[in-house]
Amino acid sequence: MSKRDYYEILGVSKSATAKEIKKAYRSLAVKYHPDKNPDNPTAEEKFKEAAEAYDVLSSAEKKQRYDQFGHAGMGGSAGGPGGGMNMDDIFSQFGDIFGGGGFGGFGGGGRGRRVMKGTNLRIRLSLNLLEVSQGVEKKIKVSRLVNSDGVTFTTCKSCNGSGQVTRVSNTILGQMQTQSTCPNCNGNGKSIDNRPSGTDANGMIKETETVEIKIPAGVEDGMQLKVSGKGNAAPFEGVNGDLIVLISIEEHDKLIRDGQNLHFDHYISFADAALGASVEIPTVTGKVKIKLEEGIQSGKILRLKGKGLPSVNGYGNGDLLIHINTWTPQKLSKEEKKFFENCKKSDNFKPNPTHKDKSFFDRVKEMFN
Ligand SMILES: [Zn+2]
Repeated sequence: MSKRDYYEILGVSKSATAKEIKKAYRSLAVKYHPDKNPDNPTAEEKFKEAAEAYDVLSSAEKKQRYDQFGHAGMGGSAGGPGGGMNMDDIFSQFGDIFGGGGFGGFGGGGRGRRVMKGTNLRIRLSLNLLEVSQGVEKKIKVSRLVNSDGVTFTTCKSCNGSGQVTRVSNTILGQMQTQSTCPNCNGNGKSIDNRPSGTDANGMIKETETVEIKIPAGVEDGMQLKVSGKGNAAPFEGVNGDLIVLISIEEHDKLIRDGQNLHFDHYISFADAALGASVEIPTVTGKVKIKLEEGIQSGKILRLKGKGLPSVNGYGNGDLLIHINTWTPQKLSKEEKKFFENCKKSDNFKPNPTHKDKSFFDRVKEMFN
């Protein structure tokens, strides 16, 4: 299927101004916005198509290449064959097109300048299985950059406050204009006039803050939680960065975690296996007593329903799987040796697995389900 012409998609002429192109894109983006057209793949396609066309036609450099070479000139960029843009790209790149248009949450606010975001902070947080099973609230001291009081600003002289600088360069495709973020003010349009001593070049200082972090039950090792707005503040003004919490789970001394399930290796004696026994099993929240029936086989897996860990999404609990192992004595007294010699004469001691005893294969399957 050949790609549609970008001008045709936006419904503008080849001589359309940047303003007209933006206006055309905005009305299409609003019309086909996923919030307005839930579960409508056709609208989503149109929304993406318009974003791709706008991506090219709103950039002086890409537009020129497209005008000269058509789709073939777009190479591996958004306009390239099979390139396409995903929704996240569209919102992060063109979110400000919706500014003030009734679609909250896309930042930008319709201003010409970009809204600055502070950098994210990262911490590692170690939890034990009890905390994982119940969820926990932690108070953590975080050293954040914040804007200091007493800083005064002037309009940036390099960009006159627009935050953007235009650069003209000569290339094999002719003269190209590229707009980029003003390097002098990092796009915020202001520069520092005066700042108190002890602040950094952006007029910021480090401050220690105690942040409360709510950890939901069921988190897993390597998961990341985001505490919005608790990262560094943005220089000048803008939105705070986020605090990223990397979860690491401490190993339990007896229980082994496998997703929501827990595993416990339990060793019993020949005698207990033969006679049955009442044994204590550790769980995350404490010990429980279970009964082992007489004649229990080594390798049997007992399942304590719901004694595993909760799912982080709140859908039920995993199980605790108890792996029964029979302990073979490695030293025997004379009497004991005699006892076992006698046992050998009895038919009861001859292995005779029946279909009721699960095969090794079945047990392995159960372990991993
Ligand atoms: Zn500037």
